[in-house]
Amino acid sequence: MNLVEPVVIKLAETKLDEDGVKRLAKHYGAVDWLNRARQLQQNDSEFLIELAGRACYRSFGVGLNPNVTKIRDNPKDYLTNVLEKGDGSILEHSTVTFAFLNVSRVFTHEIVRHRAGTAMSQESLRYVRPREVSLWMPPDLQTASDRFSEAVKEIEKRYHDLETQFDWDKMTFEQKKRVTSAMRRILPDGIATNLIWTANHRTIRWVVEMRTHPSAEVEIRKVFGKVAEICMRDYPLLYGDFTSKKLDDGTAQYIPKFSKV
Ligand SMILES: Cc1cc2nc3c(=O)[nH]c(=O)nc-3n(C[C@H](O)[C@H](O)[C@H](O)COP(=O)(O)OP(=O)(O)OC[C@H]3O[C@@H](n4cnc5c(N)ncnc54)[C@H](O)[C@@H]3O)c2cc1C
Repeated sequence: MNLVEPVVIKLAETKLDEDGVKRLAKHYGAVDWLNRARQLQQNDSEFLIELAGRACYRSFGVGLNPNVTKIRDNPKDYLTNVLEKGDGSILEHSTVTFAFLNVSRVFTHEIVRHRAGTAMSQESLRYVRPREVSLWMPPDLQTASDRFSEAVKEIEKRYHDLETQFDWDKMTFEQKKRVTSAMRRILPDGIATNLIWTANHRTIRWVVEMRTHPSAEVEIRKVFGKVAEICMRDYPLLYGDFTSKKLDDGTAQYIPKFSKV
C-alpha cells in the first residue's frame, strides 16, 4: 500500500498559427490593428478568443463596420466586457489539457459528469493490473489512519491472493484483460489512477466554480483548486474575476464575479 497525493500538471494549451492570424487580419483590412493588438496581448489563448469575438462584429478597429464607431482597444477591457455580458461561447475556442495523476475513481466518476466542452482519456483498469494499491488518504480519516491503512492492506492482500489463482504467463493478452477487469471489482473506489482531461475555458470556469464549492467532494475541490490557480496565473484576463476563499479543511473555494458565462 502506498499513500499518494493528487497531482495536477498542465500539459498543453492553444497555440496560434501566426501566419494564419496575419492572413485573417489582411482579409479584414486590419493589419495595423493586428500589429497594435499583438503588442498588447501576447497570450495565444486569450488572443484567439478576442479574435473570434471581434470577427462577429468586424470590430478590428473603427471603420471596418460602419455601425461600429468605437471599440475597446485594451484586451483587458475587451475580455472583461465579454465575461460581463456572458458571451461565453467564444471562450470555447481555447482549451487547456491537464494530467490528473493519483486521483481516485471517486474523482474520475465525478468529473466525467461534466460533458460539455471536455475530452477525457482515463487509465484502463481492464488493461492495467496494479502491482500495489496506491491511494490518497482523505483528511477526514486522519484520526483513523491506522485502521484505514489496515483495511487497504487487507484488500491488497486479497487481491494478490486472487491473482495467484491464475497462471498469467500462459494466458493470452485477451484472457489477461478479462481477468484483470474481473478482479478490479474488489479494488477500492479510492485507488489512485490517472486521467488526461482537456476542456475549453468556458467549461473550466464552470467546473472550477462548481467543484470548488464547499458542498463538493474534498478531493475534487483539492484538484480543481490547483486547476484554478494554474488558470488564474496563465490566463489572467479570462480568470481575473475569480476570488478565492480559504476553507477550514485547507482547500479553497474559487468564486467568479460572472458565473456560468
Ligand atoms: C456538489 C455536487 C453534488 C452533486 N451530487 C450529485 C448526485 O448526488 N447525483 C448525481 O447524479 N449527480 C450529482 N452531481 C453532478 C451534477 O448533477 C452534474 O451532473 C454535474 O455537476 C455536471 O454539471 P452540468 O450538468 O452543469 O454539466 P456540464 O457538462 O458541466 O455542462 C455545462 C452546462 O451546459 C449545459 N448542458 C450540458 N449538457 C446539456 C444537455 N444535455 N442539455 C441541455 N443543457 C446542457 C447546462 O447548462 C450545463 O450546466 C453533483 C455535482 C456537484 C457539484
